[in-house]
Parts: sequence; structure tokens; C-alpha cells
Amino acid sequence: MTVPDIIIAVDGHSSTGKSTFAKLAAKEFNLLYLDSGAMYRGVTLYAMEQGLIAPDGTIDEEGLREALPGLDLKFVSTPEGSKTFIGDRCVEGEIRTLEVSNRVSPVSAVAFVRAWVDERLRAMSRGGRVIMDGRDIGTTVFPDAELKIFMTADARIRAQRRFDEMVARGETPVFEDVLKNIEERDYIDSHRETSPLRRAEDAYVMDNSDMTLHEETVWLRGLVQGKFGILE
Ligand code: C5P
Repeated sequence: MTVPDIIIAVDGHSSTGKSTFAKLAAKEFNLLYLDSGAMYRGVTLYAMEQGLIAPDGTIDEEGLREALPGLDLKFVSTPEGSKTFIGDRCVEGEIRTLEVSNRVSPVSAVAFVRAWVDERLRAMSRGGRVIMDGRDIGTTVFPDAELKIFMTADARIRAQRRFDEMVARGETPVFEDVLKNIEERDYIDSHRETSPLRRAEDAYVMDNSDMTLHEETVWLRGLVQGKFGILE
């Protein structure tokens, strides 16, 4: 389907399948897909490796402020799709571990980290034709996005999906730990001072607790056709 030069913002709770959904949409509408969560995860991994997060989770904010300009975080296009790199090191796997997931929400609540990430996301999106997923894309990063979607689902269903993914990757997660991580991230993301997770007033809500991926794409196609008057 041919769409105009639009920006689609996909926000929502953790583990609602935003990236899978947005990647499929990017393919279908020929848009660039940008994963804002990967940026926050990259910053978190970097902070951990620089020793800026204590074992109790306390962040050395001053240290991070000084270290951030030295972080070369980017998306690199590879034959297997876009991957997150720090310098010339692919960190796509490392940023998705439970260790990083457990640290990322406090790091992403730091205001100067958000400003650093936002600047890069906007620079990468110049010219539009982008679909970006995250927590504050439709409210803060691109408040004028032509189409905004807010995804949510029951927390236990989200935890089960994330648990199954981890098992498929050969990890041995404990279901209650995965559920706790999702609930904690929901809480921190929705209660932080800077750009909290909330639905933009003009966002279309998708609760995919009982939806298949195919049903999600049919839903989106209908939405895009109606919104942009595309006949197909
Ligand atoms: O989307 P993903 O779960 O990979 O994001 C990781 C974390 O990064 C989220 O739990 C949230 O704390 C943070 N995040 C954010 N704003 C975004 C994207 C992600 O605060 N736009």
C-alpha cells in the first residue's frame, strides 16, 4: 500500500509487541523503522559497562552526564535487518537481557538522557516516512505525527509472550520475575516526571490481549486506508 510521507508513532506498555508490529508496518508501507527503546537500552548497557550503575541500582548521574557524549550509539543496517551498535560492536543481544531490562526504566527517567535520545531520534527521522515505537513518541518526540497508535494488553499475557521468547532464545527465565519486570517498567514509565508514558489524546488504542499478529495488521490497514483516504 502506498502511503504519503507520514510519521507513525507507536506507543504503549512494555512487551505489547510494538516492535514486531511496527517492523511489519514499515515493510508494508515502505517506511523506516526506528526502535527508540533500543536507544534507551543502549545507553543503559553503556552505563552498566562504565560502572555508573551501582549493584543496588543507584545511577551515578553526574558520571553519566560526562560519559554520554562519548557514546557512539547507532543503528546499522545488516543483512538480518537493522541492529543496534556501540562503536563497531553489535549489542543487539546484550541490550535485550533481563539485566538491562531491569535497569533501563530508571535510566530512561533521567531528563538529560531523554533529551540526548530525542535529539538523535529526530535527526534520524528527517524527511518523515518513519514508524517509530516507544513510550512518548506521539506525546513528546513527534506530537504532530500523522498517525498515533497506543498498544496495550493484559500484563500476564505480555509476560507470557516475553517468557516464551526468552525460552526460545535458550534462556531459563522465571515467569514471576518476567511479570515483575513488566509491572515495574509500566509503573516507572507511567510515573516519571519527564515524558511519562500516556496515551496521546489523538492516539488510536489497540488492546491486543486476544489479537493475532495477522489481526493487528488488518486493523492497521483499515485504519490507514480510512485515515488517508486510500482505496485498495
Ligand atoms: O521498548 P522497550 O521495552 O525496548 O524499551 C525499553 C525501556 O526504555 C522501556 O521500559 C522504557 O523505560 C524506556 N523507553 C522510554 N521511552 C521510549 C522508549 C523506551 O522511556 N520512547
